[in-house]
Amino acid sequence: MTERVIVIGGGPAGLMAAEVISAAGFGVDIYDAMPSVGRKLLRAGIGGLNLTHTEPAADFVQRYGAQHTRVGEWLQQFAAQQVRDWAAGLGIETFVGSSGRVFPLGMKTAPLLRAWLQRLGRQGVRVHPRHRWCGWDDAGALCFSTPHGTRKVDAETTVLALGGGSWQRLGSDGAWMPWLAARQIAVAPLRPANCGFEIRWSDHLRQHFAGQPVKSVTLRVGAEQRRGEFLITRHGIEGGVVYAFSAALRDAIERDGQAVLSIDLCPDRALPRLSADLQHPQGRDSLANHLRRRAGISGVKAALLYEAAHADQLHHMPQLAALLKALPLTLHATRPLDEAISCAGGVMFSELDAQLMLHALPGVFCAGEMLDWEAPTGGYLLTACLASGKVAGDGVVARLLSRESRQSARGYPTPP
Ligand SMILES: Cc1cc2nc3c(=O)[nH]c(=O)nc-3n(C[C@H](O)[C@H](O)[C@H](O)COP(=O)(O)OP(=O)(O)OC[C@H]3O[C@@H](n4cnc5c(N)ncnc54)[C@H](O)[C@@H]3O)c2cc1C
Repeated sequence: MTERVIVIGGGPAGLMAAEVISAAGFGVDIYDAMPSVGRKLLRAGIGGLNLTHTEPAADFVQRYGAQHTRVGEWLQQFAAQQVRDWAAGLGIETFVGSSGRVFPLGMKTAPLLRAWLQRLGRQGVRVHPRHRWCGWDDAGALCFSTPHGTRKVDAETTVLALGGGSWQRLGSDGAWMPWLAARQIAVAPLRPANCGFEIRWSDHLRQHFAGQPVKSVTLRVGAEQRRGEFLITRHGIEGGVVYAFSAALRDAIERDGQAVLSIDLCPDRALPRLSADLQHPQGRDSLANHLRRRAGISGVKAALLYEAAHADQLHHMPQLAALLKALPLTLHATRPLDEAISCAGGVMFSELDAQLMLHALPGVFCAGEMLDWEAPTGGYLLTACLASGKVAGDGVVARLLSRESRQSARGYPTPP
């Protein structure tokens, strides 16, 4: 009987690998720990599934930071346009939002995932839910924990697409790391990416402003600046433009024990103008009214100002203007990995060939977020997961075809 390829992990990376391998005529079995596949993908669709981004390819690839060269190789196979074409092939048209982000019409994941699983079913892919992979036994068989006990599966060709370590309740928990490390595969520790940060808020700010968005501000970290919005949380800040800086902020906290970001609360007014506006006579206005009337600062923005300002700065208008243009916030820690949108770390690229096969374990390929890359939100995560699934799937097909051609040259029968 023809060998079937084992894909472990039914997220976007594993499903894409399964699609490519089955389209080439090889049998595929997908094993997943959860009762159904694609749970994180479905969760990503709540609030709008951001599939990819339309910015120029040269800018797009830079989003992968230190790993842009390796991820760029995947994107040469499968990038933003291919993501859109692929979705269209599943009957899901896409549109470009105002920020260049690409979403499915209707914004939802469920129709896309449904059509995708139907296509995989037509291509003969079998899905085995509730099969938690627990590593290899001494003979090299894959071991799965199932509701009916341990199941062992011999496999010559395996794709691991086990995801990262955030939102563990959706399936990916990073439990695979020691099993690969035991096989001498270098794995970088998983760290939060696109994550929230902790700030020592006063009780007043926490009680009255947690959950409120801070809109239309510019954040600066070092020489980088970006406009957007973010959310005040009980613990600190998260979301939106904070995610764009989260790698730099996380690295600074790991290095220095804290990170400082600066917020421009009045990005549409230059400092001299703001300072002049605030120096208008205050008359009988309270400071709160003066700030609201002269600088448009009220609500959560005023609360942030009071949180960061010293008492003597509040009555010196040029100093107050300078503070509004560059309000420093000190971040003490990242929020836990489990809360992050994605993670950094994972199987290091030194362990993988160009087709994402492990040098140390021939026949074992890896794809998706379990590899050591990271990117901001904006559709870059899913694009790279899909692209790596495509590269690993192509790698599997090339390996199986070359084995078949070697066998037929030796006179062995080849699979139908
Ligand atoms: C709230 C949220 C919103 C997001 N929104 C977006 C977005 O809009 N755009 C975007 O680009 N990205 C988004 N992401 C990120 C994106 O969803 C992930 O990067 C992507 O799903 C990772 O794909 P993957 O296939 O590598 O892993 P996963 O999707 O995590 O899939 C891994 C699979 O492996 C299975 N698995 C893990 N361990 C085992 C095991 N031991 N045995 C068997 N099975 C196992 C899991 O059950 C899971 O099904 C979002 C993430 C979150 C949490």
